Amino acid sequence: MHAVGIVAAAGSGLRLGAEVPKALVPLGGRPLVGWAVDSLRAGGVVDVVVAVPEAERDAFAAVLPADVQLVPGGATRTDSVRRALAAAPAEAQAVLVHDAARPLTPPAVVARVLAALAGGARAVVPVLPVVDTTVVVTEDGLVGSDVARAPLRRVQTPQGFDRSALEAGYHRLEQLGSWFTDDATLVMSSGVAVHTVAGDELSAKVTVPHDLRLAELLAAGR
Ligand code: C5P
Repeated sequence: MHAVGIVAAAGSGLRLGAEVPKALVPLGGRPLVGWAVDSLRAGGVVDVVVAVPEAERDAFAAVLPADVQLVPGGATRTDSVRRALAAAPAEAQAVLVHDAARPLTPPAVVARVLAALAGGARAVVPVLPVVDTTVVVTEDGLVGSDVARAPLRRVQTPQGFDRSALEAGYHRLEQLGSWFTDDATLVMSSGVAVHTVAGDELSAKVTVPHDLRLAELLAAGR
């Protein structure tokens, strides 16, 4: 099975308080996007397409391997992934969509997603249990109701897809004009069953400065 990796790296560094795009923020002396590309490759993905902020293309090219394909990202993550998917090599039958903001994803997670696709799943996401009590809070700041925690899962990336299922989802999205926070929800809305494999706490997304400090500690311990 030929799989292409898509890395969404066109976001800003706003919530991280960074002056450069988040994917270029260094972790252990290397930009986050470099770590994310390496995770995909170490897990068994060869071809990689990275969606980058258009104005920063040269900065990304300078820090990524020469055989990584760069495409201009869009205004939303969904738009960035859609553009990268359109540029993916024609021979790829499977697609793994990954966040540049998850630098420490273990290659074993990537391998689990690939194995599920090879086993016939058309969509697969790595998930982790929810450990905190989870509630719905009203507009007044009061706890409205609790949510049964046992069936809840946190969804990570890379998310794996049969290419035709992902393309059909994006085609439908263009017609709907709506947006989704991840690709699996989009594909699921087209009626495709989304399978799950075990995620990993190391695959946490770097969003706020605390996440980066934690990632620095974990990267130093490797
Ligand atoms: O902002 P957030 O952390 O949810 O973004 C998740 C991933 O999507 C990041 O790796 C970010 O670079 C990417 N993204 C993108 N294009 C956008 C917005 C976010 O590729 N327009």
